[in-house]
Amino acid sequence: MVSFFQDPLRPIMTAVQEEGMSSTLALVPTLAVPSTEDYPGQHALKLEFPQNGTAKSVTCTYSPDLNKLFCQFAKTCSVIIRVQSAAPSGAVVRAVAVYKKSEHVAEVLRRCPHHERSEHEDDFAPRNHLIRVQGTSQAYYSEDANGRHSACVPYEVPQVGSQCTVLLLSYMCNTVCVDGMNRQPIMTIITLESKEGLLLGRRCFEVRICACPGQNRRAEEENLQKKEEKTKEGGGDLHVQGTVLPTCPSVFPLLDHIPDLCFPLRVGEGSQAL
Ligand SMILES: [Zn+2]
Repeated sequence: MVSFFQDPLRPIMTAVQEEGMSSTLALVPTLAVPSTEDYPGQHALKLEFPQNGTAKSVTCTYSPDLNKLFCQFAKTCSVIIRVQSAAPSGAVVRAVAVYKKSEHVAEVLRRCPHHERSEHEDDFAPRNHLIRVQGTSQAYYSEDANGRHSACVPYEVPQVGSQCTVLLLSYMCNTVCVDGMNRQPIMTIITLESKEGLLLGRRCFEVRICACPGQNRRAEEENLQKKEEKTKEGGGDLHVQGTVLPTCPSVFPLLDHIPDLCFPLRVGEGSQAL
């Protein structure tokens, strides 16, 4: 049994369900209100997303201008994790979903009762968890002392010739679900943690789970543009982002569909400092 440093403020999490792994895997902050402030840390953690555009058929697309991922229910979304220096061995990547608005952020985000009961399940994740990690048998799911859900996966060192690893997430409820998210905007917090549970880096992005990701991204970007134009007319300060990064080779065989261009996550924008 591996033992970990135990900080009294960060009690050991219980892995709710996992096949063939030890029941205690990492420590996690149990703050009532998790931080959604970006923190690149010493490894310069950065997230990138495939450039999927806004076609009608797209099932998952990321808007750099909004720092927002639009995706369909249960569809796989690639989140590309890049670090400038190697993370220590045994590091863990954790995904946590939280409500974006300050009046709801303390509430635990869980699936709506309808989807929790649905027959869609084909994995071993707890049924009330919103986020699933796909494409790996090493994912595990846990709850902290406040009942907040995490989906975790051991951090994989990029393969030779590659500089990034890819996290495959899927969201198992819709933003409009009654008795669930109830149209409230949510954020996903991705943290890189050492095996002792120390925070090495944090990045956040907003998520909308909907039937028409491409269409909704386009509409929200247009709204933002209109707002920015209004601000401009009013003499406000604004800027437009459109940086595209060079090739990011995928490391999982099933990720060969990732296009050659990736959007960078906007540093320090679109997330709430709490
Ligand atoms: Zn639902």
